[in-house]
Amino acid sequence: MKISLTTQMLLALLLGCLCGLFISYVGISPDYFKPLGDIFISLIKMLVVPLVFTTLVAGAAAVGDVSRLGKIAIKSLIYYTVTTAFAVSIGLLVANILQPGSGVEISQTTQNTISVNPPSLLSVFMGIIPTNPAKAMADGNMLQIIFFAIFLGIAVSSLGTKHNHVHQFFDSFAEAMLKLTSMVMYYAPIGVFGLLTFTVGTYGADVLLPLLKLIFVMFVACFIHVVVIYTPLVRYSGITIRKFLNEMTSTILIAFSSASSAAALSSNLQSVQKLGASKPVSSFMIPLGNTINMDGTAIYMGVCSIFAATFFGIDLTFDKQLLIILIAILASVGTMGVPGAGVIMISMVFTQVGIPLEAIALIAGIDRILDMMRTTLNVLGDATGALAVSKAENDMHPIQE
Ligand code: ASP
Repeated sequence: MKISLTTQMLLALLLGCLCGLFISYVGISPDYFKPLGDIFISLIKMLVVPLVFTTLVAGAAAVGDVSRLGKIAIKSLIYYTVTTAFAVSIGLLVANILQPGSGVEISQTTQNTISVNPPSLLSVFMGIIPTNPAKAMADGNMLQIIFFAIFLGIAVSSLGTKHNHVHQFFDSFAEAMLKLTSMVMYYAPIGVFGLLTFTVGTYGADVLLPLLKLIFVMFVACFIHVVVIYTPLVRYSGITIRKFLNEMTSTILIAFSSASSAAALSSNLQSVQKLGASKPVSSFMIPLGNTINMDGTAIYMGVCSIFAATFFGIDLTFDKQLLIILIAILASVGTMGVPGAGVIMISMVFTQVGIPLEAIALIAGIDRILDMMRTTLNVLGDATGALAVSKAENDMHPIQE
């Protein structure tokens, strides 16, 4: 009997949780399982830079005229801003109602120290232009790679048919990178197992229990965001929720287990194209969204701000909460798609509204769990955006089954 890759990954998730609980109970070090997950993450990271670069060049070149590319870019930016604003508002609202910070005592929480050094917003925006594209690629600087790739794609398309072998080269290279993604996915079940065993084994019940309410509130906010924002958008694209979930399961599992949107990027691109998203739109929006569209991180910023404010007895007035929405939108743009990036960026929000940065020490103990949830949403938001904008552009190509 052949078990599908998705089922294998789901089983790996379950086995990883059980194995993690077992080893934390009997006292086996989770470090033994770490290499299994690390191999997976390295394999996937190996794909990201060439995949983003070639798909974006090919995507921008395929769009052809600059005005259409401009239209797609504007729709994408509107989508990113509106959904992220909703995300942080939902986070604030749910946390205001459920009050995750009440009843938590300092002695109950893990006292982690973490050095925070958020980049300034100006430096995030000024750093977008690469002075050396090769260095941007070597450093894996996504925003710079995106900037260069889009301009190169526009240049390639303006060369016209005489030079279209350049276009074909990028097209074929991008196809090859997607093929390589499928090959790496054969290892995914073992990777997911390793990641989950390590995470669950490291965070035994002792660490999780005191902050269970915060985890629960984050989960509720994420769930509401999926139901209220993503579900109607998926339906609008003409796809059933069932089909969407079927196609997205492996991407969701990679995001959840690795806590890195960058790790889920290649699989996400493959999934949305299988669901029928337009090639130019998805090759533009998935890499771009991966870096600048982070709904899960925005929810997290909303929820944790209320959590920390309640904990420290700070009154977050309505205008302060509006400020949180604004800063969280900007901060989520600057957050990289790697594990733990959000906890550094949240210090930007805390500083603006006067929440002591010690609050980060409270959250850091369970941050990995929150990170798994927010990364899943970050990736789902990119997929939904690519589908909705493809539909708005009248460019859906549903796969016939
Ligand atoms: N880990 C998240 C991601 O990769 C970013 C974050 O920490 O908020 O999407």
